[in-house]
Amino acid sequence: MENDKQYRKWLDDMQLGHPLTVAGPCSAETEEQVMDTARALTGGRVTVFRAGVWKPRTMPGNFEGVGEKALPWLQRVKKETGLEPFIEVATPAHVEKALKHNIKMMWIGARTSANPFAVQELADALQGTNTIVMVKNPVNPDLDLWIGAVNRVVRAGIKNIGVIHRGFSVYQKSPYRNKPKWQIPLAFKRRFPDIPMIIDPSHICGRRDCIFEVAQTALDLRYDGVMIESHIRPDEAWSDAKQQVTPERLHQIIHDLTVRKETPEDETFRLNLLELRRHIDIIDEQIFDLLAERMQIVRQIGKLKKSRNIAILQSKRWEEVFSRAMDYARRHQISEEFMRSFMNALHEESIFQQKNGKKS
Ligand code: PEP
Ligand code: MN
Repeated sequence: MENDKQYRKWLDDMQLGHPLTVAGPCSAETEEQVMDTARALTGGRVTVFRAGVWKPRTMPGNFEGVGEKALPWLQRVKKETGLEPFIEVATPAHVEKALKHNIKMMWIGARTSANPFAVQELADALQGTNTIVMVKNPVNPDLDLWIGAVNRVVRAGIKNIGVIHRGFSVYQKSPYRNKPKWQIPLAFKRRFPDIPMIIDPSHICGRRDCIFEVAQTALDLRYDGVMIESHIRPDEAWSDAKQQVTPERLHQIIHDLTVRKETPEDETFRLNLLELRRHIDIIDEQIFDLLAERMQIVRQIGKLKKSRNIAILQSKRWEEVFSRAMDYARRHQISEEFMRSFMNALHEESIFQQKNGKKS
């Protein structure tokens, strides 16, 4: 897959606006819900109306989408509001039905993009069409799997392509439903700067109160747009009720987002600085996560030592840890002085956690 400006041409040709603003319910439920939501989403920056027709649910028995009968509702959305319908496709039959109903924008979901067989079948079904295809990151944090999925679609001759960052599954407790792991989409962007990337903060957050912040971070990192779930009555939604916002709130979020325009000189400098600072924030977060993980293990060691009545401070072990850190500093342009104070602070806190740590 090469870098090719053609990949982003559809954004301008379709006049969808920049940043691309996609909103709509997690699922199409009834014709009335679809139409009421779509109408309420017009009049602002939203140009694309998302709605799940076939839903990939983790558990059987959960609402799996109303299926094909929602497609004429989406045609009605296009006709009456001008919003461009956008749906998820997971099988060649979905693609075929969507094409029959003149759906021009389709995305490949996170569970599907993790499966090369399924992606290949979709790519074959899409071949020869000028569908706009956006590929969500796979559920697991694997950059190559994501690139591979996009590549299969591109090789099928689809030039109107984009990607959606929706976060990655986590097993541990986390404030996010799907951890952003920003370093992965950023690595994607570095390799393929001409493939438009948008953020799906709804599925990253899993709740309403962090959507704005995640969307703003993405725009600061020069993403090309946002996709946010919005439902006319979010609390009554048949899927993902907790993360959907009312159209009114959606308009507010979009209005409050700061979009940094690319202009020469000063603005470019400011943008570069902002982008680098965002990188630092992301790295800091990773450092904090690792620190928390380290302290948890330290507390376990504390418990273990206590059970055998072994002294907490083991000088020999500490000397080993310390000298490894100093070696590392020498090899990586980190001053020995800094590493010494850092390791001493880490050691002090670890001893404190072993003595007092109750949680583990
Ligand atoms: C969705 O966008 O409705 C959806 C199911 O998302 P994902 O594939 O990211 O879980
Ligand atoms: Mn959803």
